[in-house]
Formats: sequence, structure tokens, C-alpha cells
Amino acid sequence: MLIKTQAEITHKQQLNNDTILVRLDLADNLNFTAGQYIIVDIEKNNQLFKRLYSIASPETNQRQIELIIQIVPGGIGSEFFQKAKINQRFNISGPAGHFVLRKNNNNKIFLATGTGIAPIRSMLASYLPKNPKEELKLIWGMRTTESLYLIDEYKNWQKNHSNFSYNICLSREEPQDPVCFKGHLQDFINLNKSSLISNTTDFYICGNRDMTEEIKNLLISLGANPQQVYFEKF
Ligand SMILES: Cc1cc2nc3c(=O)[nH]c(=O)nc-3n(C[C@H](O)[C@H](O)[C@H](O)COP(=O)(O)OP(=O)(O)OC[C@H]3O[C@@H](n4cnc5c(N)ncnc54)[C@H](O)[C@@H]3O)c2cc1C
Repeated sequence: MLIKTQAEITHKQQLNNDTILVRLDLADNLNFTAGQYIIVDIEKNNQLFKRLYSIASPETNQRQIELIIQIVPGGIGSEFFQKAKINQRFNISGPAGHFVLRKNNNNKIFLATGTGIAPIRSMLASYLPKNPKEELKLIWGMRTTESLYLIDEYKNWQKNHSNFSYNICLSREEPQDPVCFKGHLQDFINLNKSSLISNTTDFYICGNRDMTEEIKNLLISLGANPQQVYFEKF
């Protein structure tokens, strides 16, 4: 059921040159499952606009959530969050969406580009503390080392959970760190297809529309079961 509630900004943080993290205190419990999104009401020139943002924080806290927002020039939601001040209030509704973890023992590979990391961060931060036994792998596509954010979280997950690992694909830079790979997510998948694709692995993809579609099709063409490929298109 969609809950309408009020959100108040309690923290804003620049993550890279065009991405911010926003923390919101909610007037009501949202009852969301990791991977779902909220709908933000934005008033501009006496008109109401609605924009969707994935919840980026774990489901253990239903009254305080985080969003990871890419600021696109001239965008209504982008401008709203860029200018928004601490303690500013606005209406939201949620939770919505079906991009949630399937409860099974399959290995899980998470593929994100850019802010597509948001719902996947929520899933991993909610699921890893339950100490699941299956293999979990995050593959995140970004442009440069400078654009990366929240890397310490992934490092800590890898340190504390022997079944979790991550790789970063940098499309525009020769990487220094051994977890980083030079190229797009698609290149990484093609190069590692024999270890990535199996009928006991589920895939969770999130990012912009075209990239998500491309990765989904690539995985299926390489033998992934279409029933085990889940995605959210921004
Ligand atoms: C399920 C879901 C979850 C999502 N989660 C996230 C998330 O976690 N993080 C995130 O960053 N995004 C997320 N998105 C994307 C988000 O909803 C917005 O689409 C995105 O933030 C852009 O919205 P905006 O209002 O800033 O831009 P818009 O106002 O929608 O504009 C988009 C682009 O069009 C251009 N434009 C707008 N109007 C005009 C015009 N009249 N003429 C020419 N150009 C124009 C703008 O300059 C901008 O570049 C999600 C989307 C979906 C569907």
C-alpha cells in the first residue's frame, strides 16, 4: 500500500561532482523492502511534478532513508534537490516497485551504473547483516576513480563477508586498484562470462534505461535464464 507522508531533509552530502546523498526523516514508517523507490512531490511555478527516487539505505530504518541523486542540468527534480536546504520539508509517497531480492539460495550478481547503485546499496546493506551463505557480487560501472563514492562501505562488506566481492568498471580511466577494470560493464561480463553466468545465479541490474536493457540482453544471450534477470530502469 502506498503511504503518503512528509519528509524532512536532515543531511546533504556531495558524493562526486554531479551526485548528492540526501538523508530524510519521515513522519511515518514507510514499510519498504530494499530495492523499492519513493515518489517525491515537487512544486514549481504552482505546478506539481512527481519524480521517482530509489531508496538507497537499509530497510532496518523505516523512518530515516537516504537517496543518491544525480543532478542533471535543467532537471526539475535535480534542481529541487540541489537547492534544497537542511530542514526543508516536502511530501513523498511510497513504497513502490518490484525490484526486490528474491528469497532463494541462488548466487546473486548486482550490476549497476551510476546512481543505479542506490537500490542495490539498500539491498546489500539490508541483506549482508543476515549472513546469507550464497555468493554475492557487486559490479559497478563508473567513468573515473574520481567519480566513485561510498567505496569504504563495499570494502568493509568484502572484509567482513567472505562470500561478498566487488569489482568496478571504469570506462574512461586506466585503473590503479586491482578491483577496478578498464572498460564498460558489458566488457567485464564478456571477459568473465564463464565464471559469471550459471543457472544458479540471479542477476539484479539497475541504471539508465539503455544500459539496463543492453546488459539484460547480453546476459540472456550468454545463457542467463531470463526468469533470473531482474532489473530497474531509471
Ligand atoms: C524507478 C525509478 C527510480 C529512480 N531512482 C533514481 C535514483 O535513485 N537516483 C537518481 O538520480 N535518479 C533516479 N531515477 C531517475 C529520476 O526519477 C529522474 O528521472 C531524474 O532524476 C531526472 O529528473 P529531473 O526532474 O532532474 O529531470 P527532468 O526534469 O525529468 O529532465 C530530464 C532531462 O531532460 C531535460 N529537459 C527537461 N525539460 C526539458 C525541456 N523542456 N527541453 C529540453 N530538455 C529538457 C533536462 O535538462 C534533463 O536533462 C529513477 C527513475 C525511476 C523510473
